[in-house]
Amino acid sequence: MTKPATQLVTTKDALRAARARLEGPVAVVMTMGALHEGHLSLVHRAREVARHVILTDFVNPLQFGPGEDLETYPRDLDADLALVDGLVDLVFAPSVEEMYPVLPPAVSVSAGRLGTALEGAARPGHFDGVVTVVTKLLQLTAPEVAVFGRKDAQQLAIVQALVRDLDLPVRIEAAPIVREPSGLARSSRNVRLDAEGREHALALSRAVRAAEAAAPSAPGIRAALTDAVAAGSPGVRWDYALALDPVTFEEIADEHDGEVLVVMAAHVHGVRLLDAAVVEATPS
Ligand code: AMP
Repeated sequence: MTKPATQLVTTKDALRAARARLEGPVAVVMTMGALHEGHLSLVHRAREVARHVILTDFVNPLQFGPGEDLETYPRDLDADLALVDGLVDLVFAPSVEEMYPVLPPAVSVSAGRLGTALEGAARPGHFDGVVTVVTKLLQLTAPEVAVFGRKDAQQLAIVQALVRDLDLPVRIEAAPIVREPSGLARSSRNVRLDAEGREHALALSRAVRAAEAAAPSAPGIRAALTDAVAAGSPGVRWDYALALDPVTFEEIADEHDGEVLVVMAAHVHGVRLLDAAVVEATPS
């Protein structure tokens, strides 16, 4: 792909007009901004699988609950534009009013059964907000491919179900987790951690590594995660660390054979962090 001249669009009309001028396959990368290496890896994947790339940069109020960090979520559009300049064709960064003339919208999309477990249990309505904005952004960007990161493993599973169950004409591409050299999964929220918080946050990637080391024993993977939570760790308030069947989202049984989705969430110094991995289990 030749280096695109990156164009910023902030209205739906401007986006539709610019999208119509893109010839050939288009990939979209949806973000809430405060871009980092994790987002850039999605952009690079998008460039590999399509001729043109659209990056959306929008902090979606619909996926934040009361008392969550909507107001303090990091925002820096100029820095975001500098990072993706020459890497994407379009950056769509609308205002809240542009995306939602009426907020909350009269009609929205439901994430269904998958949307009430785990992150959805901790954050009621979160995934309904996610699938509503994802559906709108898919309509507006009309891509062949949409790239999502495996760090938000439940979000990825729900978006795959959204596309499958509502017959949306797009292919979902999953991209691997990008980590800092310490092992910490890159996240826009990491900027809110001080040096000690970043140290304490390593409890999550340690638990991921323990689960990976215990594979392919299903009881071993489960025990590694249970032990990590039970042992506790300074500065960390665990919410969950589970080994799931990637299809049913149920916890795996001892005789589980095949892929296991390891997912975890914890508050570290008040910042909610996620980590995840895909491992293989075989019955002993
Ligand atoms: P966000 O801006 O946090 O909503 O994330 C936008 C997209 O980037 C989602 O598909 C995330 O899963 C993905 N993403 C965020 N952090 C990472 C990471 N460290 N590695 C891979 N993908 C990521």
